[in-house]
Amino acid sequence: MTNTFETIRYEVLPDRIARITLARPQVRNAQNKKMTYELNDAFDLAAQDDDVKVIVLAAEGPHFSSGHDLRDPQPMDEFPIIGTWSGFDRPGGEGITALEHEIFLGMCWRWRNIPKPVLAQAQGKTIAGGLMLLWICDVIIAADNAEFADPVVGFGVNGVEYFGHPWELGPRKAKEMLFTGDFVSARDALQLGMVNRVVPLADLEKETLAMAARIAAKPSFGLKLAKESVNQTLDTQGMWAALKSAFYMHELGHTHNQAVFGSWVDPAGLGPGYRKVR
Ligand code: ZN
Repeated sequence: MTNTFETIRYEVLPDRIARITLARPQVRNAQNKKMTYELNDAFDLAAQDDDVKVIVLAAEGPHFSSGHDLRDPQPMDEFPIIGTWSGFDRPGGEGITALEHEIFLGMCWRWRNIPKPVLAQAQGKTIAGGLMLLWICDVIIAADNAEFADPVVGFGVNGVEYFGHPWELGPRKAKEMLFTGDFVSARDALQLGMVNRVVPLADLEKETLAMAARIAAKPSFGLKLAKESVNQTLDTQGMWAALKSAFYMHELGHTHNQAVFGSWVDPAGLGPGYRKVR
């Protein structure tokens, strides 16, 4: 199909693969609301296209994603709400909880449950909100220069809104990652099970598409049942309840910062000239 998106590209490739590419390299693929809703539309396109069996999430430029675009000025009433929350502009914790439930937790959980295999290919840096886009994928292929960090404890919150850290890295490394804000290398991420494979940067696209094609050769219903079975295993271990619990702690952090600093994040975590968010 023709690409009609502004912040991403959507392509249907041979071998029944749909590829969604983050396409804001000028801001290192920072995720604004426009990108969030375009990603949602693209995932829906791929999910509902019976000719598509596997989805690939890629990113243009040297880095997968620098996280959320904190300067995003676009109001929520310009977007089609996909969840059941509202009141995005209400004061106190109510508005920001609604907003982040809609565009972060709710959206990520929706994508995590798409009943088709989703493969990510990650190069360069993936920071904070960018991690959520990787973690909702089923398989992550990392370039050898890939590295991953969530430094938002420095902003006075617990970690990104879709709090996958302990599930993805194990509790001990998750704590180190959060406490220090340091990058986790592709090699360490491989050892910990956060990524499936590490390949030379030059081979990233080729290796990802090769695995996608091998997966796409399998029966579609078998793939859906396998994905659902693994996801339901995590669900029975309490993944959704844990994500929700951490999400509300995240909103407690924002609300605390707003009360103390007049900003949803602790200004100590922001650079000069960038003192207030929202
Ligand atoms: Zn937040």
